Amino acid sequence: MGQKVNLFLNGPIDNEFICSLCRDVLQDPVMISSCEHVFCVVCITNRLTGSKTCPKDGRNIGFRPLEQLKTPPRPFLNLLNGLRRRCQFQAFGCHAVITVGTTKEHEEVCPVNPTRTRACASGCGAILKNSEVARHNCVEYLRTQLQQAQIATRAADTARAQEVKQMKAKMEAAEKAKAQEQKMANAQMKAEMEAMKQDLIKSVQESVATAASAAAQAVAAAAVSWLAASDGTVPSGALVGGSEGGVKLYVARVHHDGHVLPGKVVESKFFKHNCCYFAFGGKEQSSRSYEVSAFFLVLGVDQ
Ligand SMILES: [Zn+2]
Ligand SMILES: [Zn+2]
Ligand SMILES: [Zn+2]
Ligand SMILES: [Zn+2]
Repeated sequence: MGQKVNLFLNGPIDNEFICSLCRDVLQDPVMISSCEHVFCVVCITNRLTGSKTCPKDGRNIGFRPLEQLKTPPRPFLNLLNGLRRRCQFQAFGCHAVITVGTTKEHEEVCPVNPTRTRACASGCGAILKNSEVARHNCVEYLRTQLQQAQIATRAADTARAQEVKQMKAKMEAAEKAKAQEQKMANAQMKAEMEAMKQDLIKSVQESVATAASAAAQAVAAAAVSWLAASDGTVPSGALVGGSEGGVKLYVARVHHDGHVLPGKVVESKFFKHNCCYFAFGGKEQSSRSYEVSAFFLVLGVDQ
């Protein structure tokens, strides 16, 4: 994980600057505080996850070995950072000579760093990693961009069409709801009218029943009415109280000697009686004037 020895110009490198784990020049060095041995931070961290001893002298480091790692002394770092080396991208054409201390700074701006990005020099608008520049074709790039734009436009069109469709569906639903509301209002009105009609019929029927009842009472009242008659005659509607050998006997009453006495009027085709017979003082008597019980119907009788 260190810096390759073959990149360094002024060899051989002092053993102090070599990591005993990766055998490269120290990269981001850290020091075990108890023994002061120095390693690349990545190398020693990896090692100490499974061990508590110094890889160089085998001595126990302690309970939490990672907490025993420290930054090496400033003079040591200054010497290390001053070592001259080449850019790691020399194989891509970089011939810069740098130091350990300025390596990171250089790599960020190194023109051939394959991970560094920049705009296409031909102005097509593509942002390219250095590793992509050789394969880059502006026309192909622009064609891809156009296709993607077309796809995006189609997607937008589809979305808009979908939106229009949804709005249309909403509108149709609203219209349907309104029609349904109207239909229900009509039905309600119809039902109300039907109810009114039924009420009217009921009220008419009740009036008729009341009138019929009044008429019946009038008849009943009339039925008990007594109509004055005389000389054996009976008014029309006279009540037949019984019969005697096929001869009708009408119900009558006679006012006699301060009494009202029941009597009968006899109807005979062969013999005219000309009176009403009644019993008084233990014997049958007759009267030429009397009253006959009769039906008589008078409309508009006030009860
Ligand atoms: Zn190392
Ligand atoms: Zn050690
Ligand atoms: Zn470089
Ligand atoms: Zn281009």
